[in-house]
Amino acid sequence: MTRNKQLEDLHEVIRNCTLCPLHETRINAVPGEGPATSRVMFVGEAPGAREDESGRPFVGKSGELLTSMIQEIGLSRETVFITSILKSRPPKNRTPTQFEISACRPYLERQIEIINPKVVVLLGGVAISSLVGPWKLSEAHGRFYETDNRTYFMTYHPAAALRIPKVKKSMQEDFQILSQELV
Ligand code: SF4
Repeated sequence: MTRNKQLEDLHEVIRNCTLCPLHETRINAVPGEGPATSRVMFVGEAPGAREDESGRPFVGKSGELLTSMIQEIGLSRETVFITSILKSRPPKNRTPTQFEISACRPYLERQIEIINPKVVVLLGGVAISSLVGPWKLSEAHGRFYETDNRTYFMTYHPAAALRIPKVKKSMQEDFQILSQELV
């Protein structure tokens, strides 16, 4: 089976998933999007209102900023895979619970396995703590982390960068560090 087909089949399962209570309140599950051959994966926290309505990841203001930062380092949104730790929106964008993260994690693990990217970019504290452990974001950002034959890169969530100009600048600097690894 091709990687595209494996990813399509997985996303169909995610769209119908009822493993945690978030399926009761979501409009659409948001599996993620991008080529099955992407060299870079971006992992956020969870879908927001716009993502829940459309079924697509990072389509609101945070998504616009993420897209422009991706372009600033010479990539395009069409060539990377974008997803999040949770595939369904928590009500009022509350922080994901540990139960929800644990229930949803196998989907992300499978996406990483199928795509096999060179780097998995973790956007914000929830993505970082869910995949590589309890780092302080102020110490983690701009760093690579290797575990289980995977390379992760840790940075801020674009929603934080939208609110705080200093974080936006740090995130742009982090993306420059990331781009050097991708040469
Ligand atoms: S958040 Fe994940 S585990 Fe929970 S219902 Fe959505 S897809 Fe299933």
